[in-house]
Amino acid sequence: MNVAKANFSLEEMDRLSVFHPVTSIADQQKNGPIIYTKAEGARLADHHGNDLIDFGAGLWCVNVGYGRSEIAGAAVNAMQELSYAHMFGTASNEATIRLADRVLSLLRERAGAPHLARVAFGTSGSDANDTAYKLVIYYNNLRGKPRKKKVISRLGGYHGVTYASGSLTGIPAYHVAFDMPIEGVLHAACPHHYRFAEDGEGEQEFCDRMVADLTGIIEREGADTIAAFIAEPVMGTGGVVVPPPEYFAKVQALLDRHDILFIADEVITGFGRTGEWFGTGTFRLKPDIVTMAKGITSAYFPVSATAISDRMWKVFEENSPKTGAVMHGFTYSGHPVGSAVAMANIDIIEREGLVEKCAADGPYMLELLKERLADHPYVGDIRGVGLMMGIEFVADRATRRPFATGANPHRLAAKHATARGVLTRALPYIDVNSFSPPLSISRGDIEEGVDRYTAALDDALPALKNLSAQ
Ligand code: PLP
Repeated sequence: MNVAKANFSLEEMDRLSVFHPVTSIADQQKNGPIIYTKAEGARLADHHGNDLIDFGAGLWCVNVGYGRSEIAGAAVNAMQELSYAHMFGTASNEATIRLADRVLSLLRERAGAPHLARVAFGTSGSDANDTAYKLVIYYNNLRGKPRKKKVISRLGGYHGVTYASGSLTGIPAYHVAFDMPIEGVLHAACPHHYRFAEDGEGEQEFCDRMVADLTGIIEREGADTIAAFIAEPVMGTGGVVVPPPEYFAKVQALLDRHDILFIADEVITGFGRTGEWFGTGTFRLKPDIVTMAKGITSAYFPVSATAISDRMWKVFEENSPKTGAVMHGFTYSGHPVGSAVAMANIDIIEREGLVEKCAADGPYMLELLKERLADHPYVGDIRGVGLMMGIEFVADRATRRPFATGANPHRLAAKHATARGVLTRALPYIDVNSFSPPLSISRGDIEEGVDRYTAALDDALPALKNLSAQ
């Protein structure tokens, strides 16, 4: 059937033509799409004319907010000047050269990572993590350690959906029926004290148990088979999990002892989200690889980046006469328009002090959420860092008993929130609504959004009560 020839509504055309990402087909066919039409600042409008405060910044990505004509102007100029140029075989372009230098300077000067040496570009967080995955294998092959290939991720970690990055993702829902994870990927325990602590276990003891779990995996598999460990500084999709205070220091010491590379997945945390430029700075990390996407352009253009350390670069460079070209990279790696957009976006973050603003507005919003919702009978925990927050639902606050599998209280809450005019995400690992508004959001919009969300949880109360009894 040619849908364009029939007089179908947009909703019907969507049902008949679009295969949506991360969507229930049954839901799409039954309820149809939500079609967004306009956006400005932290607010979106849909085709019914609803005004929605976007507490998600899209998918944790529109850091400078919607509708920035300065970025549109940079894109128009770049498209007119050099609409496309590839980067293969030493081809280059000015915007990408300047962006690589700027990203490295930010990591070196604002995140305490002076050892980062080069940046490779792509177009998504998934491809940045696939690049990281391939480069740790490449590194160990060149070093004459062909057995050292496995990568350890964590349960609850989210690193993308392609075969390598999707296997690194430690959320079973992403693996079902896809024959994932691939061989060579291992998952360590999720360092989320509120949900996974044993009875009476303090945060310190819990942290030690998490490190012991990782140690156990390394000993069981043999350190000579483990190439790398990957972690988000703050788990996003896994439930906005802020690690226990000493977790990363202990993990890094363990990795160093065993010559295991550390990949920091900064796809969400990069470019200001934690109230610092990078989670690497927030948590004093010393990663060998930093992957970035989302906030690098505030999602105005698909750009990702993978920064690597000087020790990796040295091995690649020294072996280059033997290995020839590094046969990895994409048609759109270092796209001049994407790089120009990224530069304009970073200009805005710097000029408007959005990182500092995030450091002030994050705690303000967290306090507001706590003030309004800490006593809600099904809200167990409210947490976060910078403008990255989560509310975890439990069926019983005293015992922290989760809702029954499939009850999905957080999906119900997010639905009520949308009806009240505020967008939050219902996450796929534990029952959490996440909050990650544009870093540019006004205090007024924070307050109005929290009001709307509070009203939504009141609306949801009777249904949550029923679900809690399951
Ligand atoms: N890594 C993290 C931490 C993410 O949150 C995401 C996406 O949400 C990705 C990687 C994958 O990014 P993309 O969807 O651009 O492939």
